[in-house]
Amino acid sequence: MIEHDRLYIGGELVKPAGTSTIEVINPFTEEVCGRVPEGTEADIDAAVSAARTAFDTTGWAEMSVADRCAILARASAGIQARMDELTGLISTEMGSPSSWAMFGQVLAPSMILDYYAGLAETYATEETRAGMFGPVVVRKEAMGVVGAIIPWNVPLFEAVMKVAPAVVAGCTVVLKPAPETPLDTYAFAEIMEEAGLPKGVLSIVPAGREVGEHLVTHPLVDKVTFTGSTAAGRKIAAACGELLRPVTLELGGKSAAIVLDDADLASVVPQLLDASIMNNGQACVAQTRILASRGRYAEVLDAVTEAVAALTVGDPLDPATQIGPLVAERQRERVLGFIDAGIGEGARVTTGGGRPDGLDRGWFVEPTVFGDVDNKMTIAQEEIFGPVLSVIPFDDHDDAVAIANDSPYGLCGSVWSADAATATELAKRVRTGTITVNHFGMAFGAPFGGYKSSGLGRELGPEGVDAFMEKKALSLDPATPA
Ligand code: NAD
Repeated sequence: MIEHDRLYIGGELVKPAGTSTIEVINPFTEEVCGRVPEGTEADIDAAVSAARTAFDTTGWAEMSVADRCAILARASAGIQARMDELTGLISTEMGSPSSWAMFGQVLAPSMILDYYAGLAETYATEETRAGMFGPVVVRKEAMGVVGAIIPWNVPLFEAVMKVAPAVVAGCTVVLKPAPETPLDTYAFAEIMEEAGLPKGVLSIVPAGREVGEHLVTHPLVDKVTFTGSTAAGRKIAAACGELLRPVTLELGGKSAAIVLDDADLASVVPQLLDASIMNNGQACVAQTRILASRGRYAEVLDAVTEAVAALTVGDPLDPATQIGPLVAERQRERVLGFIDAGIGEGARVTTGGGRPDGLDRGWFVEPTVFGDVDNKMTIAQEEIFGPVLSVIPFDDHDDAVAIANDSPYGLCGSVWSADAATATELAKRVRTGTITVNHFGMAFGAPFGGYKSSGLGRELGPEGVDAFMEKKALSLDPATPA
């Protein structure tokens, strides 16, 4: 049981303004495993005020990029030093199997910090161009105070995705974690502080959506960055639109893995599982539509079914576990509802389809595969956010691209083939922000984000820092030598 009675605001652990608390429930035991104060609008006000002061008065934005990046490098080491503790904490909070969480929830965030730390070498904030009357300096200037809102599925990863580029840019941040996963953010605050982050640059206020809305619309916030559902993203975009406030949105996905006729299934299928069902299927990048040619459809469906049926379901802290419980009871009910919809619309369950035998405690759903799926079905169109895969037939390459693109989302995808050149050409035609050929993974040096309802703007790469920068054209005295 982990309890905190303070909030991390302005570089101090302070008494919260309100008296209510958030209980964190372990999805495996269904018991309370942690308790933190529930942040209120007054706490957001205090955090934004601290961030405003830190931005406006401490010279943080004027510090060199290299000095700010050095903090990120130390923070990465801080995460790595606490790898086991953080893995256990996040697995306990939200059910991620520790076998995956060690990498996906903890090592990956430290790698993102390392990437941004390395930008000190190359990220230029000034460039001189030729103007009409003389030189013009194009400057990138930190936007100011950032309101950052993150989901529960990869909480430390998302905290780093927001805070690291904001630090490179010279912004200050008020972070609102999801109420399901506030515990790891206390460790994150300690790590950032020990790494040398000045007071006020980061404040953390765990709270629900109403308090999140207060952060989004706060008059002293300059930029909003949000990761979460498309439904919430639309509301936040509307609020920011009204205020003409810059916003980055990383939203849902329904990505397709296209398996071409010549793919070697023995090597592809294990990688497909990594790409589709990681984190118990609770990943925005999950490639939950597996597209197979009609000629090999039965073979692909059998291979995927066999691999999914062999997954070990159980205690997320057991290193042998591959699939843990879903984050909450409501999430389990939602996923079971999608499975019912799939059956109702005529898809065929080839493995799974319900709650696993012998696991009555914990919010488990059996890893499930559907065959005979038409891309128009609910299970192929909506983001399920659970361990449920659809295998969908295609006629030819054009049809595969058309099916992949027949989605409201456009986040991710992959193409698998013995012919890498053909797969690469096909990948160019898929309308998603990220796509990989014959592997699955994220490239932290490349922009990440969605087409269509998967979001607005990009994170990662230098583009991720640009998202926190205003651009100023400073025309010099025309007598200045070029
Ligand atoms: P959610 O939208 O319900 O909540 C996400 C966060 O936003 C939480 O902190 C929540 O309290 C807050 N929130 C919700 N409504 C809000 C509002 N109107 N104003 C301000 N804050 C609000 O999403 P979730 O269920 O926590 O997370 C799952 C979703 O996140 C999935 O759709 C998944 O695809 C998406 N996601 C996307 C990415 C990406 O990079 N594209 C990464 C991870 C998760």
